Amino acid sequence: MIKMARCPFCDADFEAGRGDVLLVCPYCGTAHTTDGAKFTDHYMIRVHFDQGEAQTTLLDWVSKQLGAPEDLPAKARFLKYQQYWYPFWISRVDSHSTYRGLGRDANFYDEWPQRRGAYKRIDYFWKPESGQFTRRHEINIPGMKDLDDDVKRHPIPTRAKEFFSHAHAEEFDGKVMHSNIGEDEAKGLAKQMAYDRQTNLIMSEVDKIEERDDTNTVGETFLVHVPVWELEYKYGNSKYKASVAASTGYVIESKYPRSMAFRAAGLGFGLLLLLGGVGLLAVALVLEMFIGAGLAGGSLMALLGLILMYKGASRKEAKEQI
Ligand SMILES: [Zn+2]
Repeated sequence: MIKMARCPFCDADFEAGRGDVLLVCPYCGTAHTTDGAKFTDHYMIRVHFDQGEAQTTLLDWVSKQLGAPEDLPAKARFLKYQQYWYPFWISRVDSHSTYRGLGRDANFYDEWPQRRGAYKRIDYFWKPESGQFTRRHEINIPGMKDLDDDVKRHPIPTRAKEFFSHAHAEEFDGKVMHSNIGEDEAKGLAKQMAYDRQTNLIMSEVDKIEERDDTNTVGETFLVHVPVWELEYKYGNSKYKASVAASTGYVIESKYPRSMAFRAAGLGFGLLLLLGGVGLLAVALVLEMFIGAGLAGGSLMALLGLILMYKGASRKEAKEQI
């Protein structure tokens, strides 16, 4: 849902989503709450890759991926390119946890004389453990709930932050996104995430937590806008989407085509596996040799062969997890 908002600093009207609570005026760049209060802890990460450099970096990366067609960099045509500035809340949380719990331990009896390290009898038992963890966490909360998961998780060089500059975002026609998470909600989420990280630390020491005491103090919290190029290119008759971090050139996410040769190799190898699997099944069933192993191994090979052949035959694009 779109509604109109009015900037309390330059009086311009602009569009905002219904859930947006921290707005950035597209005309003067001032960040403010829906009540009109100016928000000053507003930073950005500077752009170091313009549109052309982002496209080159992307094609370079894609052409190194397994099975990508060799002529992709020459033949890909970019259809869309838009720079978005996505909001992230960064909080420093100082956490201190003390805990008491139980860890699993074991006593070993009667080592086998011929096999060192192997025992006839092992008794497991619970052993009380206690300790503490003091950590300073930097927690990153994406300011848009419906942001793509890969963009949410991509690394942000927060040390390189500078005060937000409206002029810098305008240089590349960047679209600066509002945040639908406010400062207080972000701090609450950061506190919960710090607690979860402390839980992971404790669970690396004990198997059951019996008692714990935590303090999580949320310190410096700021909003940082991070520039990302959202690209779309055409290769052959298909279109592929990609996201590239405009400050680091990091390829966040990219779909790309598989070459014919790669898919043919998948088909060929799949067929070999299928034949091998059928052969093993035949040995087991007809000649009644290695029945157990033949049936299990043969079915598995045949199944793998079918999967590989299916993957080779399908024209579905690949998506690499980085
Ligand atoms: Zn304004």
